[in-house]
Amino acid sequence: MQNIIYRTNIQGNGFLKPRSQFVITLAASLLLSLLLRLPIGGEAFTGSPAGDSDSYLDLSRADTVRVSILGNENPGVLRINAVDDMIRFRTASGDSALLGPGDGFAFLYLQHGKVMFRKGDRVLESPTLSFSNSVGLTQVFVQGFGNRLYHGDFEILFDERQNRHLIINRVPLEDYVASVIGGEMNFRELEALKTQAVVSRTYALWSIHRSPYAQFDLSDDEQNQVYVGALPVRPDYAEAATATSGEILTWSNRLILAAFSSTCGGATSHNEDVWSGDPLPYLRSTGDGGACSVSPHYRWRLQVHESELSELISSRYGYRFSDMELDYDTAGRVRSVVFTNGTGRRLLFEGNEFRTILNRHSDTIRLRSTRFRIERDNGTITFTGNGLGHGVGLCQWGAKGFAEAGWSYRDILSFYFTGTKIVDLNTIESKQIALSG
Ligand SMILES: [Zn+2]
Repeated sequence: MQNIIYRTNIQGNGFLKPRSQFVITLAASLLLSLLLRLPIGGEAFTGSPAGDSDSYLDLSRADTVRVSILGNENPGVLRINAVDDMIRFRTASGDSALLGPGDGFAFLYLQHGKVMFRKGDRVLESPTLSFSNSVGLTQVFVQGFGNRLYHGDFEILFDERQNRHLIINRVPLEDYVASVIGGEMNFRELEALKTQAVVSRTYALWSIHRSPYAQFDLSDDEQNQVYVGALPVRPDYAEAATATSGEILTWSNRLILAAFSSTCGGATSHNEDVWSGDPLPYLRSTGDGGACSVSPHYRWRLQVHESELSELISSRYGYRFSDMELDYDTAGRVRSVVFTNGTGRRLLFEGNEFRTILNRHSDTIRLRSTRFRIERDNGTITFTGNGLGHGVGLCQWGAKGFAEAGWSYRDILSFYFTGTKIVDLNTIESKQIALSG
């Protein structure tokens, strides 16, 4: 029997652990799935759907969302401006300071384990700092990055585990949805925007309940949903949020895992073919008949030197391959990549895992999707592919195509999410909803 190289830690240094017995691993863990998304691009992850089927979301907690903002920028100093209403800052011990419109900037210095507030002569120091602006907008300026405007309240705290500060914005759900539509989908077709509104709201609620982080529900980047704050929200983004206010997607009265990605390239995949876990009845492979063919990512081609791929695999896994084999799912996506070498040892990746690792660790090999074929010729590998993103659930460019063809957002949602029903969360009498999966 051939040896399978067994990787126990795909998140960390990705080391290999040869095993004598035939072991196949490659669990697409939640963290793995959170690794990478591309904006419109975007592809709301989804971890393994397997879980506690008796899990309920308390809808009374679902009117606000806790978003970790500016995590990628990881700023050392924030400048805060009150745009149109008074902002009150509070330390952990209850000291407070006020900042009004026209007062100019207050400075927040994020130092190891503490936050220092400074406005003129007024200085506060605290391990955590919260500030709130109940009705107005808060402007947050980061040197070298720019400024953003936010609704809602903030809390800054130091996360020992990540050795950095978390800046958490508690934002009303519907404000969040209106912002995320623009972050994820800048199309003009209102029915496509409404489709994204329902999907993003459903995804946010799922995240409130299933966030792997204690301090927040979602990050503001492609790992979850792109959230850039209150502006610029085009009027049609707000209209799409308002027109679908409170609407969420359910299957058999349960909140669904509303996965989405940019461009399926012709067909979406079964969830279990892309991530490990049980099949979900509403995340089935669906051919969308070229609805997303207007996407700039519908067809792509990438040529790389075989030595680049070989170097990357060798440096991360200490393994030199001589051959590679691909296995495909019914939608035409690579389900697994198997490398072999002269000694008969093999190295396995799930298709989506392979894409994620290459995109994260290679400057040159960027795989937009796993819907690709390869040709090896004389030291060159040519990837010929379709689509962008993981390809499970909603195809965003397909939603645009169908909206152009006159479909309503309800038609589009029931097309990509088989057997689902739209429910207004405000009409659920029990004020709680079970999660599917
Ligand atoms: Zn598509």
